Amino acid sequence: MIGPPGAGKGTQAVGLAEALGVPRISTGDILRAAAAAGTAVGRKAKEFMDSGRLVPDDVVVGIVEERLREPDCAGGFLLDGFPRTTPQAEALDAALGRAGRAVRLVLAIEVPDEEVLVRLGGRRICASCGRIWSVSLSPGRCECGGAPVRRDDDRDETVRGRLAVYRSQTAPLLEYYGARGLLRRVAGVGTPLEVRARVGEAVGAA
Ligand code: AMP
Repeated sequence: MIGPPGAGKGTQAVGLAEALGVPRISTGDILRAAAAAGTAVGRKAKEFMDSGRLVPDDVVVGIVEERLREPDCAGGFLLDGFPRTTPQAEALDAALGRAGRAVRLVLAIEVPDEEVLVRLGGRRICASCGRIWSVSLSPGRCECGGAPVRRDDDRDETVRGRLAVYRSQTAPLLEYYGARGLLRRVAGVGTPLEVRARVGEAVGAA
């Protein structure tokens, strides 16, 4: 699943992975967990993440290759936020090719920049259960009672940088996968349920 920051990749990927019965692999989640745990990889990654830049390809590719070797990926998997650069896409093709596998489908969730800025300005994550919500819908604590936390990289100027990074480094993948007939574009505007219906259609029609 590919899309600019704030497109709703995480939200949609959770629902889709559940519907497909496959694990969701979010490189952002893996990197944030490594940063929170203070591992060497995590500390290095945090510098890039907090400033809105991409973590170097070799680090992210290593993480994904290792994760794809886990037994729960044998029946398929959903990648959320990976690949984000052409070298990552090439590394993924090579790793899957070595295992006699291939990318089946790429979903691009599309949302205009202005909407991304509004969404991420109001995005909160529950410190306790990890749920994601918007202050515009519910300004207080999470349903579970957990405190709302703002991601370090959701500040306006960082989001603008992440959008620029998306355009220059990730958007070329639309062409990469489009040329292989693997790309489905999904409009990411509207409620999560509306987007979910479009995602379902795109996958069903694949
Ligand atoms: P996300 O949670 O997908 O928005 O990712 C948050 C941040 O983690 C990004 O802004 C990057 O700094 C880093 N990150 C996540 N996935 C990748 C990736 N595939 N390649 C490089 N950096 C990544």
